[in-house]
Amino acid sequence: MRHIAIIGSGPAGYYTAEAAHKQWGDDVQVDVFDRLPVPYGLIRTGVAPDHQSIKAVSNRYEKTALSDNVRFVGNVMIGQDVSMGELRELYDAVVLATGAPNDRDLGLPGEDLGNVFGSAEFVGWYNGHPQFAGLDPDLSGKHAVVVGMGNVALDVARILAKTEAEFIGSDIVSHALGALKASNIEKITIVARRGPYQVAMTPKELGELAHLARATPRVDPADLPDQADDAILEPGLRKSVTHLRSFAAIPESVHADAAIEIYFDLFASPKALLGSGQVEAIEVERTIVENGRAVGTGETYTIPTDLVVTCIGYHTSPIPDVPFEERMGRFANDSGRILTGLYCVGWARRGPTGTIGTNRPDGYDIVEKIVEDMTAGKLGRANKQGRAGFDILAEDRGIDIVTFRDWKKIEEAEAVAAREGAPREKFVDVAAMIKARH
Ligand code: NAP
Repeated sequence: MRHIAIIGSGPAGYYTAEAAHKQWGDDVQVDVFDRLPVPYGLIRTGVAPDHQSIKAVSNRYEKTALSDNVRFVGNVMIGQDVSMGELRELYDAVVLATGAPNDRDLGLPGEDLGNVFGSAEFVGWYNGHPQFAGLDPDLSGKHAVVVGMGNVALDVARILAKTEAEFIGSDIVSHALGALKASNIEKITIVARRGPYQVAMTPKELGELAHLARATPRVDPADLPDQADDAILEPGLRKSVTHLRSFAAIPESVHADAAIEIYFDLFASPKALLGSGQVEAIEVERTIVENGRAVGTGETYTIPTDLVVTCIGYHTSPIPDVPFEERMGRFANDSGRILTGLYCVGWARRGPTGTIGTNRPDGYDIVEKIVEDMTAGKLGRANKQGRAGFDILAEDRGIDIVTFRDWKKIEEAEAVAAREGAPREKFVDVAAMIKARH
């Protein structure tokens, strides 16, 4: 019997569990740990609440979770409830699939002003992540700035712009829906330090901005290169640029009728956040793009704002005794191998890039590497205790494990509590989740 521990029950974790199950069949026991009592990581608390079709991928993970040799071990914090050393003693292989749950900082003056949030916090707030559910952003001002030109910036801008009716069918948590309903925001400025050819927003998602009930996207035509130059772009990027061109062509009369404008302030690199107590403005420097890099021109200006959400990427949480690559914000690894018997997958391995599907090959690849290392006799002694050993340790320490069966009860309670038309009303604190399993 092989014993595999996977830390993190998001896409990277469950694709790895699926690959291990396919590889060894009944000859493996896989324990998928999560610090929360609920599974699926980014699918639950990262993917936008109005993108329910993307969340349906969890049905695939559930199939894996329900197989006899895979089990979910929720409400266990590795490095706190159980050490990495203990896990490595118990299991043949430990795979870190912990994602990248922390915001990267801008590293600019004024970042600690009130109403300035990173996207992990802000997205966590509207998605009901227990760590961020109490964030309570102030949406009473007229202006919001979203820093970054990736899909997360797009999610945040869209969520800020939507009407209550546009959230029907979503699982946005009630506290966020209430706050957004009362929001006074009239202008959302997306601040991007480079130009249209460096947009990291994907076409399907960018296209959604053109179909919002009360908001219009605006791009300054002067920021767009000559259209003939688009021919050299890779097709996906070309489609995104085509969307930006169509936003630039929206007539003034259409903007005039919209209650909210989403303005792309391109070639603008943040320099400082200004205000006393609460943020009041962001200072940016005009840039030009040279060889793909943003270069400051020395020209600066300020954008008045009452709320700032930075969507500039994430980093993984370090774990004691696990080598970490500070600059990249991920575990130090060689194609997924960290130390003997210790591996990483997904954002913990690569950094925060790629779609959910990118994690699938990662999971299958790491299982191949585990097979290679086992075959080469590199994983130390056989007959490790695996889950039986963990269960003894958990009982000794009084760790309150949440099982997949418990999760199904929590899930059922969330479905029962849902608003009309919504798939669920998420519990937003750990104690309520744990209570709901009874
Ligand atoms: P991202 O795609 O890497 O975008 C980050 C953005 O932040 C870039 O525009 C980057 O600009 C900007 N940035 C970074 N540092 C900055 C700084 N110091 N000052 C100003 N701007 C800065 O990351 P993301 O949006 O967080 O998304 C993470 C991953 O999840 C991506 O692969 C994304 O596609 C995926 N995702 C997908 C979906 C979806 O498919 N629906 C939804 C959400 C996220 P530069 O390019 O100039 O560095």
